[in-house]
Amino acid sequence: MQKKGRRGFSFSTSDKVKFLAGGIPGGELHVISTIKRPRDGDLFSPCISGVVILYFGRFLAMVRTSEARQIIVRSLHAGPQESCALSESYGRILATEVTAPLDVPGFDNSSMDGYAVRSDEIRSAGENSAVDLVLQDEIPAGEVPKTALNPKSAIRIMTGAPIPPGADAVVEQELADAKNGTVRVRGFVQAGRNIRLRGDDIRAGSVVLKKGRRLTPARVGVLASLGIERVDVFRKPKVALLTTGNELVDPSSLPGPGQIRNSNAVTLSGLIRESGCEVIDLGIARDDPEELGVRIRQGLKEDALITSGGVSVGRHDYVLRVLKAQGVEIKFWKVNMKPGMPFAFGILEGNSGRHVPVFALPGNAVSSIVTFLQLARYGLERLRGNEEATPLTLKAVLVEEIVKRDGKHHYVRGVARNENGTLIVQTTGSQSSALLTSLSMANCLIHVPEESRTLPKGSTVDIELI
Ligand code: AMP
Ligand code: MG
Repeated sequence: MQKKGRRGFSFSTSDKVKFLAGGIPGGELHVISTIKRPRDGDLFSPCISGVVILYFGRFLAMVRTSEARQIIVRSLHAGPQESCALSESYGRILATEVTAPLDVPGFDNSSMDGYAVRSDEIRSAGENSAVDLVLQDEIPAGEVPKTALNPKSAIRIMTGAPIPPGADAVVEQELADAKNGTVRVRGFVQAGRNIRLRGDDIRAGSVVLKKGRRLTPARVGVLASLGIERVDVFRKPKVALLTTGNELVDPSSLPGPGQIRNSNAVTLSGLIRESGCEVIDLGIARDDPEELGVRIRQGLKEDALITSGGVSVGRHDYVLRVLKAQGVEIKFWKVNMKPGMPFAFGILEGNSGRHVPVFALPGNAVSSIVTFLQLARYGLERLRGNEEATPLTLKAVLVEEIVKRDGKHHYVRGVARNENGTLIVQTTGSQSSALLTSLSMANCLIHVPEESRTLPKGSTVDIELI
């Protein structure tokens, strides 16, 4: 290798050399391209004619996945709010906190089918020392006690029915028998037993849900129990989706020579919807700066734009330069991850305070999904106001070796399962970023962080369920 100035070295283009001087983190130089002349779309344009151009990969340009995610999340905030009927609110994000207008439950009630009693009257009850009480009445759920509990008496009570005045416990049905107007109690229960007190679950005036919480079925149920009929939620962001590539045809068409079916449009649409956003499908754009310009301009009218393909360093990868030409400020390009390295994130700062994020995803089927899951989705969740979306990893035992030689963060497709109480994980085989079936078989991504190299069989790894 021969030194040629600060950034250039001349050597064979297939080389990937260990960088020994300077202690650069990662310790590797990567040959990124062999550009002969400066190109408009190059972010760094460090071109020296006729010389192989090197970037000090992660040192100069690449961000770590965690940093990339932080940049995305910190740059974005929730959009406007709207009112939504509770019955339509599942999956939406609360825009204002909810305070309970009343206690839940609203009255003391029984948590068991059994007999409402005075606990001190059955203190001596046991298997061999039953206590007999007078069967006074019965209270089914939905009815109210007609009278208070008399001394030496029991009232049959169903789950959810109000506790009659005078009673302080419920003997579960299994500990008592009723026969001819007498209840024979065969066990003692303490005061308060089997009674759900008023306000046990929710106290009037307490905050039950905070702003930025996703309305899960249980949360919608809590709001229903409080009699809340409408909620303030953030508007669903409209996300434009543009797939790019001369080789692409619609899945319903027969591909011609050299063509392939566009699978990213459907996979990304699904992921965008799963992230609580609406998809505006802009179809397929050719690798042509003019056509891309028109479609991207259209996409920038929505709340966010996601593109797939054309963001790498190929001769026909125009997406970055077209974005820049449209005024999009690229916050970063290239993430130190595999698959998905050439991911870019930018923002169009519009005149009227409009702030449109752009996620430019690589075209490879697996790369586009993995970069969406690791990066873009956190941006969309942020846009829709979700303050709970954070990566969640579990520990699992690796049942095979994973070979890794570079300093990237690898996301390996895996299948995790429980074996005798231990979470174990194996890969789905070849990890080429074009093999969509290997991702379709996976139920998790195995993390192999930047600093890790080959992971031996039996090591404990972080996995993320997908
Ligand atoms: P690109 O990122 O444009 O260089 O594309 C990388 C690889 O992904 C190429 O093999 C493309 O044919 C493929 N690809 C790009 N876009 C799509 C798509 N929408 N659906 C399926 N494969 C795609
Ligand atoms: Mg392409």
